[in-house]
Amino acid sequence: LFASVDMAPRDPILGLNEQFQADPNPNKVNLGVGVYTDENGKLPLLACVKEAENVLAEIPKPRGYLPIDGIAAYDKAVQSLVFGADSEVLRAGRVVTVQALGGTGGLKVGADFLKRLNPSARVLISDPSWENHRALFESAGFDVGNYPYYDAAARGVAFEAMLGALNQAQAGTVIVLHACCHNPTGYDLTPAQWGQVIAVVQARGLVPFLDMAYQGFGEGIAEDGAVIQQFVASGLDFFVSTSFSKSFSLYGERVGALSVVCESKEEAARVLSQLKRVIRTNYSNPPTHGAQVVTTVLSTPALRAQWEQELANMRERIRSMRAALVDRLKAHGVATDLRFITRQKGMFSYSGLTPQQMERLRAEYGIYGVSTGRICVAALNTHNIDYVAKAMAAIMR
Ligand code: PMP
Repeated sequence: LFASVDMAPRDPILGLNEQFQADPNPNKVNLGVGVYTDENGKLPLLACVKEAENVLAEIPKPRGYLPIDGIAAYDKAVQSLVFGADSEVLRAGRVVTVQALGGTGGLKVGADFLKRLNPSARVLISDPSWENHRALFESAGFDVGNYPYYDAAARGVAFEAMLGALNQAQAGTVIVLHACCHNPTGYDLTPAQWGQVIAVVQARGLVPFLDMAYQGFGEGIAEDGAVIQQFVASGLDFFVSTSFSKSFSLYGERVGALSVVCESKEEAARVLSQLKRVIRTNYSNPPTHGAQVVTTVLSTPALRAQWEQELANMRERIRSMRAALVDRLKAHGVATDLRFITRQKGMFSYSGLTPQQMERLRAEYGIYGVSTGRICVAALNTHNIDYVAKAMAAIMR
């Protein structure tokens, strides 16, 4: 039966992880995978999560099936986080939100729904993008293309080229946009640039799909969510996927959501019925625990305040590591202007290193980044940063 089955290509980042685990170098540093680790290199268990779990454990509940679209209070909590508590589209009942298996699940539910809605549409993702965007939309049956995004020479967004590509896209094309903390480059659009993107999307009849996997990791919860307000103000219908993997450090619990902004409450009800159909035929209904934790934190004022503080701490620690990396590289003799590292947002930095340099980092120093030059700044800490900076400086010479 399986004689003709080919070996599927390894996931480039998870493959890197395996290589890292096998490396005997005592100084090895994993800058590959997109996971936030704390000052001691450990995956944090947020105090607000621990407290919510204590609260939940005190009133143990039987584990029935959840509704297809998840816990109602969770979906509501996601909506007010993403759209703002007093959002007019929420009041008008124009937004549907379904619990999903992480941000990936939100994207996939949206992709499957869009495929049913408009089977001949194309999908455009940024060049480069999170490596799963292409595979995910292709596996939903779409032809996936790119719009330019990264300008290596300018160390920023190739904005004119991006707009040009959007301007050429056919009506109905799904445009996947990183709401904040672009993965992998770290370069985000300015509010004015978002305004221009929205104008083109509107003029061309494109379908915006915002992937918000890092809300709160850039500038703050509201600041990172401001792009959603811009889309709402435009009156467009659009998709937003949410992930709490990073912002709650709940990676393995698979907590995320998909929200769809519709034209009317009546339309929203029909869209919801179709999203439920997609979920029902994929995994029937989502798991309970992670969503209960997030709901408890977001709807308990003291826990929510604690979460915002813990998220701010993660954000600030990453920012301080960006600044420290620039300083140390300079101290180790790198003469080029590296301030771009501190302009980038979120967990990642497109370092500008070549695949050969990344390979040398791996082979000679046990420092594992992605061969595109992407490094996870959230994995740097005061214990490993000098080693990393020294190694980077040596291979940049
Ligand atoms: N979108 C982007 C841009 C991401 O970086 C990630 C996570 N690496 C996801 C979606 C998926 O998040 P999750 O782990 O919650 O499925």
